[in-house]
Amino acid sequence: MSILHISLRGSKDMKIESINTYVVDAGWRPWQFTEIKTDSGITGYGEMSDGRNPWGIVGTVEDFKPLLIGKDPLNIQALFWDLQRMAIQSKGGIASKAVAGIELALWDIKGKHHGVPVYDLFGGKLRDKQKIYWSHCGTSRARDYEILGVDPLNSRQDVINLGKEVADKGYTSLKTNIIVRPDSPLSHPPEETYVFFGGFGGGAGSTDQGLEYTTDKQTFINYELLDVIEDHISALQEGSQGKVTIGLDLNFNFKPQAVKKICNRLEKYNMMWVEIDMYEPDGLREITDSTDIPITSGENLLGITDYRPYFDKRSMDVAMIDIPWQGFINSKEVASLAASHQINVAPHNYYSHLSTMISLNLCANIPNVRIMEIDIDDVPWKDEMIGGPLDIKNGVVDIPTGPGWGVDIDTSIFEKHAWQKGKGPGYLSLPK
Ligand SMILES: [Mg+2]
Repeated sequence: MSILHISLRGSKDMKIESINTYVVDAGWRPWQFTEIKTDSGITGYGEMSDGRNPWGIVGTVEDFKPLLIGKDPLNIQALFWDLQRMAIQSKGGIASKAVAGIELALWDIKGKHHGVPVYDLFGGKLRDKQKIYWSHCGTSRARDYEILGVDPLNSRQDVINLGKEVADKGYTSLKTNIIVRPDSPLSHPPEETYVFFGGFGGGAGSTDQGLEYTTDKQTFINYELLDVIEDHISALQEGSQGKVTIGLDLNFNFKPQAVKKICNRLEKYNMMWVEIDMYEPDGLREITDSTDIPITSGENLLGITDYRPYFDKRSMDVAMIDIPWQGFINSKEVASLAASHQINVAPHNYYSHLSTMISLNLCANIPNVRIMEIDIDDVPWKDEMIGGPLDIKNGVVDIPTGPGWGVDIDTSIFEKHAWQKGKGPGYLSLPK
């Protein structure tokens, strides 16, 4: 292509021909992808996975199509803002994820068109490798050991063994959730290991988000939960012989008073961070002020307007940023805003390895990365969809160097594992 054919509005030679979406069955949750085809033969892929509302997201992409078909895919800013303004009365949430899935596919096209990784479109890379942590460590095994083909997590010794496995495989950081084993004081029929996710819907007693003495074992607010949490963290530390820093993700499960008590109990362990989601910057600041453990939050915030009050109030020590939920442009801006507050970011990446590649492209390009999330226990075909396993050594992975996101996507795997309507909502928060 001659440079004469490129205007400020992009390439006059290329047009978006079609947009396709996939809702893929990733074992215990659906993943969603966009595929944008151009008349030049370049196809771009984006991820916009949401474990609970997959059909709303792909339906929103469908609604956006008239704004995109026939347009120049290289003119990403204009398309991004067209989509943002079409969705302005549905700010955030599903609309943001759908816009992100489209925007990410457009960056893939642009990188492939120029034959460079996406981070090169933003000035190149600051690093060749990225430290990662083993996320949902124990969480996925507790709930879906059959899909994963691993042993269940039923005893303290099982958790110690898992900690040892993490260290033996070279990882130096992990993240887990609140896992309640059958040998716990809070176990109840059917006496199976479960993960406490009350903040996502957990039955009676789980909406109050506090801790209290109670004799009713059917509620989750008993102070004994502190013992359950401490036993789990101490078993992981024992197994990993202190060589692994531990993150505990409390998700949306608690209000500040309870989080402060949990942090207080965990001060003596080798904590990477305690993570808590809440849409309240002052409440979060109360927590960070109460503990020496770093507090991480923000995975559900979208764009600088959402993050700004949290940064201004220094409500979090580490900012999680989700690229499939807010796109590359927003994520770059949030990382810059965080950098201006001396805060490092950690990409939220509990999705497929397309998201892993996208997140690595962001990590490569920004100066303030704390660490990056990857789920190591996952569906067996996770590596196949990008043509093979990632090269992870000592808990570190290489920054991709190929054009676009740096991988070819095998969509036949998506078709083979289609998510069936009615299977949702994906994550069930009640004990099985
Ligand atoms: Mg989280």
